[in-house]
Amino acid sequence: MNEPVLTIVVPCYNEEEVIKETISQLHKLTIELISERLISNASKILYVDDGSKDQTWKIIYKESLTKETTKGLRLSKNVGHQNALLAGLLAAKDASDCVVSIDADLQDDIAVIRNLIEKFRTGYDVVYGVRKKRETDTVFKRCTAQGFYKLMRKMGVNLVFNHADFRLMSKRAIQELERFEEVNLFLRGIVPLIGFHSTFVYYDRKERLAGETKYPLKKMLAFAFDGITSFSITPIRFVLLIGSLFFFVSGLFGIYFLSLKFLGTTELGWTSLITSIWLIGGLQLMAIGLIGEYIGKTYLESKHRPKFIVDIDMFNLSHTLEKDF
Ligand code: UDP
Ligand code: MG
Repeated sequence: MNEPVLTIVVPCYNEEEVIKETISQLHKLTIELISERLISNASKILYVDDGSKDQTWKIIYKESLTKETTKGLRLSKNVGHQNALLAGLLAAKDASDCVVSIDADLQDDIAVIRNLIEKFRTGYDVVYGVRKKRETDTVFKRCTAQGFYKLMRKMGVNLVFNHADFRLMSKRAIQELERFEEVNLFLRGIVPLIGFHSTFVYYDRKERLAGETKYPLKKMLAFAFDGITSFSITPIRFVLLIGSLFFFVSGLFGIYFLSLKFLGTTELGWTSLITSIWLIGGLQLMAIGLIGEYIGKTYLESKHRPKFIVDIDMFNLSHTLEKDF
């Protein structure tokens, strides 16, 4: 086998504090891997600027002038981690034999990229980076993440436990990924659906090198909710089940109350009445909300809007950019 062309795709959003260090470390690693003839000398690193409002793009552009491995792709606006990652994978696909995706904050051990490639060279199409332990994450993040994986499993979604978006994909795996047209992108759920020969590589997750997480609680909850409702109709079935249960129980109660009436003991309390009204009312609202969520998703999917719009693509450009940012 000839040395494969590798592209490392790095989504970046407001990462000015860390991006320079990331660029330098990934550049060094790529040069090393090339010199060891593990990857082709046409291998590159593609930084996807997801509409950053700080100096991120400027830094990427400047570094690309002196480092031949470094390329940038700027999106027209912020579209979120998953869409930015997809933009990078699709831009890199044609020129690469395999693509590794990794976050910009160096929380994932970049040395593991070597192991991912070794696996690829033995014939795997998808290699998942899996965190051994998450001691560097806060207790809160660890618990919520753990709960999320468990919940997803319960809902019948096949997720790789403790795998974020640090993975290697072969060219043909990305070609297949492109055929999944859903607007609500949840790559961790989609990639296992592609199938092919896949395996895992374990590593320790580190602390963010600098800057803050771009996933505050609100975004994390939205991400989890999207992940669940995009992949599973179990929640809607659950609502149906509870609804049927209440219907059945209220039927029994009806018979009970009627029989009390006929027996002459009609001290039916206000409390039970008001409680059941609230309970059923709440349940109905919840059910309507959940159904609305699914209908909303269907509506969004039916529009087939683009998931991202590229502003500048240095990766697939034959000439150098003559622009000062
Ligand atoms: N990111 C992005 N667009 C966004 C939010 C995040 O491209 O809208 C990138 C971010 O720059 C980082 C990666 O996605 O490279 C993961 O984000 P972060 O490290 O903040 O998430 P965490 O590791 O805390 O879950
Ligand atoms: Mg991070």
